[in-house]
Amino acid sequence: MSDKLFHNIADYANEYMDNLQDCRVYPDNSAVRNLSEFDQPIPDHGLESENILNQLRELGGPATVATTSGRYFGFVIGSALPVTIGANWISAVWDQCPGLDILSPIGNKLEKVVSKWLVDLFNLPSSSDCGFVSGATMANFTALATARHHILKKHGWDVEEDGLFGAPEINVVVSAEYHASIEKALALLGLGRSRVTKIPVDDQGRIRADSMPTIDANTILIVQAGNVNTGSFDPFEKILPVANEAGAWIHVDGAFGLWAAATSNYKHLTKGIELADSWTVDLHKWLNVPYDSGVVICKHPNEVIDTMTLNAGYILHRQEREPYMMTQAMSRRARGIDAWAALSYLGRTGTSALIDRCCIFADLFAQKLQQAGHEILNDVVLNQVLVTFGSKEKNLSVMQKLQDEGICWVGDTTWQNQHAIRISVSSWRTTEEDIIVSAEAMIRAANN
Ligand SMILES: *Cc1c(COP(=O)(O)O)cnc(C)c1O
Repeated sequence: MSDKLFHNIADYANEYMDNLQDCRVYPDNSAVRNLSEFDQPIPDHGLESENILNQLRELGGPATVATTSGRYFGFVIGSALPVTIGANWISAVWDQCPGLDILSPIGNKLEKVVSKWLVDLFNLPSSSDCGFVSGATMANFTALATARHHILKKHGWDVEEDGLFGAPEINVVVSAEYHASIEKALALLGLGRSRVTKIPVDDQGRIRADSMPTIDANTILIVQAGNVNTGSFDPFEKILPVANEAGAWIHVDGAFGLWAAATSNYKHLTKGIELADSWTVDLHKWLNVPYDSGVVICKHPNEVIDTMTLNAGYILHRQEREPYMMTQAMSRRARGIDAWAALSYLGRTGTSALIDRCCIFADLFAQKLQQAGHEILNDVVLNQVLVTFGSKEKNLSVMQKLQDEGICWVGDTTWQNQHAIRISVSSWRTTEEDIIVSAEAMIRAANN
């Protein structure tokens, strides 16, 4: 029985993937309206598996956003390489929970392998180790919890035991353009969203090196590789050596931008990041693995372990570094499995080529818009393009027309007090043809 069940799903998967290039990128209104058919009371008696999966296919399928197509340019969403979907299925079949090595030797093994590969790809210090978390938000949280631990320990203060009341002050210094997830991490860690020093940025959202505040050994400095709007990078080479020298903890949020370090053409943007103490990177964005998958990388793994470890009678630590000690969670999926599949499939050159290609396509998109007389608001240094058609009203009407047409999907943003349409290229599936068709659709929408 389960034989047929899984075959049917495999058939459906092939069908869904084959239709991607022709289907609407965003579901039409009727498909979304039909979701109300899910509004049923919980069944008294369970349904057949076939019936349940059919509901997902027939009602759910048409209402999906085709983020795995080559013409979804919203947020920085990535896609999922087919090999990673397959690996993800295998790991679901195995139902592995790699919090402890004894729960999943294979899950732990592949995380360790991927950890080494990532540190190597990004050229980070070889002492670094990785924690596999749900995404960049939790990677930032884990890194900043470790930074808090590290600084207070220097004062003889055990924050895990004694909390923050009465603790020595920690200086938090951030780019004025920090990602909202940093704010969330600071809020959760008792460091406060407002209790920070913000460093002014330039017109691309980069920290102004000439406006750095005093950095000392009680400072957590948070910088960014890849601004969510412009794609820009902070001037690491100018600011990190000083902060490092002062004994600050330096954290780099590189949710998508850190991937530049794995290329030959864009690596220069990340020069100097190796001086940091911790880094955040997402796999579910630009590495094109299924959600949810992010990684915290830390140069001082023992400090992460001291921060995240716990005691319970039934948990017998068989290894000094159990996987859960590198993250904030106990139970979770075995994220190393699909990550390993992606990196095995792409290899070093394929990974670099994927990132390069997306950046070249972003540039092409910007050129097409510019040639048609439209204003690009950012220097296209990576995979992000900000365009305006003159006013917020006009931008929204262009977006609406595009989205109604269904050829591609883009979102909007406010960039330095100006409304803009934000285009992000991050899918392995995107082709030059996708870019041309999408740019033409956008220009058409602007012209009528
Ligand atoms: C996407 C993003 C985040 C948040 O990542 P999640 O994986 O959604 O938690 C954090 N920082 C930056 C720069 C991002 O682009």
